[in-house]
Amino acid sequence: MPLLEVRELKTHFPIHSGVLQRSKAAVKAVDGVSFQIERGETVGLVGESGCGKSTLGKTLLRLIEPTSGQIFFKEREVTSLSQRRLRPLRRHMQMIFQDPYSSLNGRMTVEQIVGEGLRIHRLVPKREVSQRVRELLEAVGLNEQYARRYPHEFSGGQRQRIGIARSLALQPDLIVADEPVSALDVSVQAQIINLMVDLQKQFNLTYLFVAHDLAVVEHISDRVIVMYLGKIVEQAAVQALYSSPLHPYTSALIASVPSLDPAERRRQVLGGDVPSPVNPPPGCAFHTRCPLVEDRCRVETPPLREVRPGHFAACHLAKP
Ligand code: SF4
Repeated sequence: MPLLEVRELKTHFPIHSGVLQRSKAAVKAVDGVSFQIERGETVGLVGESGCGKSTLGKTLLRLIEPTSGQIFFKEREVTSLSQRRLRPLRRHMQMIFQDPYSSLNGRMTVEQIVGEGLRIHRLVPKREVSQRVRELLEAVGLNEQYARRYPHEFSGGQRQRIGIARSLALQPDLIVADEPVSALDVSVQAQIINLMVDLQKQFNLTYLFVAHDLAVVEHISDRVIVMYLGKIVEQAAVQALYSSPLHPYTSALIASVPSLDPAERRRQVLGGDVPSPVNPPPGCAFHTRCPLVEDRCRVETPPLREVRPGHFAACHLAKP
């Protein structure tokens, strides 16, 4: 049994209008997504802004309630659990947020921030909390003397390390990292990624790594899921996906990664914007931007199918 299994998950946000505030339409942020994550794996989740990847990450932890579908974590169906029953399980699923500036309470010291979960879940005796916080700070490469300082006294990279220490305090199995390096300088990004790789080995972690930067995802992931307008359009092992993508959207995303090679830079990049998730195009949702579009793409929705062993794509033209 995988550590996490998601079946036909949907997260729709109703749009209310009129005097009676009736629901007229819905933003289909996540629209029927199924996948699995094995223990110890790192799965990259990529797509442009507005494709639903962050909403999916938050829905997995039920920080946003799903509209329908099922989530199994450690063989338990978490979608139907009450908040009280979810609580003990939730400590095993943690989140690292994109913005290390706003995700830490500026009025709390580092020790209070990192130790809060230890106290709430009573993971160590009260008198040992300080010592455990210092061990966690050391694990994420921070001086233990920083424990008494406040978040504003740190750089962006250091704050993200504090956020990681806070997540680790709860001894999680799964960490959903939502764009954890996109708010950081390029030089600091590599340090945080390398730290996450080291911690994964040390603490036997499983990651869902949400990002729009395909270069970062390639470096850290075992497998990659590509989302477009709330649906998975491609899913494969990292090497297979980057060396021979099957979906034109994935090809365009890979082509848009900046390159120092002038020949590479001339490659065609993706044009236009992501259509509205309130009223997605019929047929293949990507057909309004696809360079290979055919007539049937405008009416027939391509299912996500296994085109090569372990390599799934939702495109009529995908061939082994
Ligand atoms: Fe492009 Fe058609 Fe494939 Fe959609 S199904 S990605 S429009 S070729």
